[in-house]
Amino acid sequence: MIELRHLTKTYGDPPHATTVLDHLDLTVPAGSITAVVGPSGAGKSTLAQCVTLLTRPTSGSVVVAGQDLTDLRGDRLRAARRRIGTIFQSDGLQTRRTAAQNVELPLRYLGVVPRDRRRRVAELLERVGLAGHADRYPHELSGGQRQRVGIARALALRPTVLLSDEATSGLDPEATASITALLRELRDDLGLAILFITHEMDTVVDVADAVARLDHGRIVESAPLLDVLRDP
Ligand code: ADP
Ligand code: ADP
Repeated sequence: MIELRHLTKTYGDPPHATTVLDHLDLTVPAGSITAVVGPSGAGKSTLAQCVTLLTRPTSGSVVVAGQDLTDLRGDRLRAARRRIGTIFQSDGLQTRRTAAQNVELPLRYLGVVPRDRRRRVAELLERVGLAGHADRYPHELSGGQRQRVGIARALALRPTVLLSDEATSGLDPEATASITALLRELRDDLGLAILFITHEMDTVVDVADAVARLDHGRIVESAPLLDVLRDP
C-alpha cells in the first residue's frame, strides 16, 4: 500500500511562497484503486511528482509498504522508485522501438539477462492483452494499445504501487474502458495499490473503489465511491 502523510509542498520562498499541497493525508491499500480528482490547479501534478519522488516534498512523507521513501538518496532512492510504476497521459513510448523492446527497457537498465528479459516481456504483454503485438511499433498501435504497452512497461519491475496520472485523458471512451478494465484486473490479480489521478469524473465512476477530492492542496472528501455518487 501507499500512504501519504501530512504531505506538504511549497514552491518559492516567503513572502511569495505558494503552498500547493497542504498537510495532505491519503492511504491507498493494496488491492484497491483510489481516484484523486480535482480541478485544474488543484495540485494533482504536484501530487504525482511527489509520489514518484521526482519532487521532494517540503514536509511530510511518502510511505510504501511501510517504508518511508521521502528522505532516501542515490541508489536507495533509485531502488525505492522501482516500487512505484507510473503511467501518464502520453504513453511515453520510444517510437523507434517495438512494443516488446519498450517493455524490455527497464529490465535492461536493471541488468536482467536476455533470456529472463524475453520471458518476462512475453508474460507482461500477455497480461495486458498484447501478446500478438510484440513486434509492432508504437505508430502501428492504437492509442489504447500504446497505453497498454506503457502499463506493461510500468509493471516490468514488479511495483507494489501504480500511479496513473491522467492516463486515460487522451483516449476515446472505448479505449478508456479497456484501460480501466485492465487496471481493475491488475488490482485484483497483483494486489496493486493504484492511485488514479484524473480530472474526468466519468472515468472515476468506472474504475475507483474510493475517491479523494483534492482542493487547495488538501483532500476535502475521501469516501467510498457510492457515498460520493449519492451526494447531490
Ligand atoms: P493540477 O495538476 O491539479 O492542475 P498543479 O500541481 O499543476 O495542479 O498546480 C497546482 C498549483 O501549483 C498551481 O497554482 C501552479 O501554478 C502551482 N505550481 C505548480 N508547479 C509549480 C512550480 N514548479 N513553481 C511554482 N508553482 C507551481
Ligand atoms: P514469481 O515472482 O515467482 O513469478 P509472483 O507471485 O511474484 O511469482 O507473481 C506471479 C505472476 O504475477 C508472475 O508471473 C509475475 O510476472 C506477475 N507479477 C507479480 N507481481 C507483479 C507486479 N508487481 N507487476 C507485474 N507482474 C507481477
